[in-house]
Amino acid sequence: MKFKTDARLSVAAVVVCAGRGQRSGLPYNKVLHCIGCKTVLESVLDVLCRTEVEHITVVSSPEDLVRITELTAEYSNTTVVIGGETRAQSVVNGLKAHECDIVVIHDGARPFVTEDIIARSIDSAVRYGSGIAAVKSIDTVKRVTADGVTALPRDELYNVQTPQTFRYSEILSAYDSMTGAPTDDAEVYERAGFSPRLIEGDYSNKKLTTPADLLGLSKGCKIGVGFDLHRLVTDRKLILGGVEIPYELGLLGHSDADVLTHAIMDALLSAANLSDIGALFPDTDERYKGISSMTLLSDVLARITDGGYAIGNISAVVMAQKPKLAPHIDGIRNSLCAALAIDKSRINVSATTTEGIGLIGEGNAIAVSAACILTENSIGYLKT
Ligand code: MG
Repeated sequence: MKFKTDARLSVAAVVVCAGRGQRSGLPYNKVLHCIGCKTVLESVLDVLCRTEVEHITVVSSPEDLVRITELTAEYSNTTVVIGGETRAQSVVNGLKAHECDIVVIHDGARPFVTEDIIARSIDSAVRYGSGIAAVKSIDTVKRVTADGVTALPRDELYNVQTPQTFRYSEILSAYDSMTGAPTDDAEVYERAGFSPRLIEGDYSNKKLTTPADLLGLSKGCKIGVGFDLHRLVTDRKLILGGVEIPYELGLLGHSDADVLTHAIMDALLSAANLSDIGALFPDTDERYKGISSMTLLSDVLARITDGGYAIGNISAVVMAQKPKLAPHIDGIRNSLCAALAIDKSRINVSATTTEGIGLIGEGNAIAVSAACILTENSIGYLKT
């Protein structure tokens, strides 16, 4: 704990984690999402522990109680209480769990808070009763009513964050007299007749809310590579990425011999340490005779998703002397991104000849080299 603002005052924090965070698109509470090697909640607790906060009450939903209790066990002077139906009720539960002189109320989903912001908010609360982190509004804000759209003066507008720090007795009495559904603690305080005082927050002190906020915050990335080659023969279809390409020859194989999809599957499986298609779908197995490789691709997608991976991007190069593939590339990308439930921007397919050299150059085979990035414990099941 750092130098105390006032040795006579006890400072505690309430960290609110009881929301369901449905806008994040995660199947679990976003405070349990990993950033690097720790969760969002641990990131918040780590910062609070470096300030003059002496006790932390974490407010959890009943569903997350076990996990959050496990995480907070690593921290001294931290207790966990169950939240209420609303954020306001959760804050009240947190406030009543531990008495103090100054209380720092913070969203569990704001992991980029700094010691300086917390120190400024505590200092302001000691001096003036409250310290509410806020930043000047960058976006122009409009009021939209039945009468039309009105521009609001941007100089007067602030985006309010947490921490919101108060004299404990004042914010508790304000919550006791609360009616309606306040959007934050400062509103409760203001409605009770107090004057909230803003302190300088930080634009990076963002609340993680939407899938976009969580992108790039995954645990880590894994690269995968895949390669495949099939011989071109008569009386077979030429299928690439699930798309039938008009050509006098087709690819020979046990399945539909979709060489592009095969290379992509092997890239995905290799990144996830899940063996390869030769082992998973052997060409000695009658079940796979003539099967569409897109069916196998769905199976591979399920395996990597179950393994906690999401597709960052895929890039593949098709090596073929003939036919000309440029007119078909867009359709192939559409087919693959639909099968993988990813945005088209995440998959690239290019084509090259081999200058007439070798098996491919002589028009006897098509080969594909594919690479991919998978992200771990990310939001892969989200369709971007
Ligand atoms: Mg193959």
